[in-house]
Amino acid sequence: MTYAKPLPVPDADSAHFWAGCRSHRLLLQRCRSCGTHRYPAGPVCPACRSRAVDWIEASGRATVFSWIVVRHPVPRDLYQDEVPYVVALVTLAEGPRMATNIIGCDPDAVTAGMAVEVVFREATAEIALPCFRPVLAGAR
Ligand SMILES: [Zn+2]
Repeated sequence: MTYAKPLPVPDADSAHFWAGCRSHRLLLQRCRSCGTHRYPAGPVCPACRSRAVDWIEASGRATVFSWIVVRHPVPRDLYQDEVPYVVALVTLAEGPRMATNIIGCDPDAVTAGMAVEVVFREATAEIALPCFRPVLAGAR
């Protein structure tokens, strides 16, 4: 399978996150000292500076904080078949915000505060990308 678009490159901090995505689990760091959930992964808690950390599986629930609808593909050759698509910042139920794509709905139907849930898109054998789709009314 050939995937031509840019891909994340897991590093020492994010390797566990991307391994979780590969098995369709959204993993977050949780500070062992103060309980703050954090994303993206890093070596130090931004709230208390502790280096003690646990990894937890997030609920996968979030709400849309902000978004744009991409209509002009850049670079054109890689994205012309995908426009229009949604690039969003979602607030995870656990607190952190995550940049992602909203999929599974009309891009013009996205609204602030919309309830969404994680869904993983297989990019390569190693990388699955966490995207979000609307939670249907009554599904919660
Ligand atoms: Zn902390």
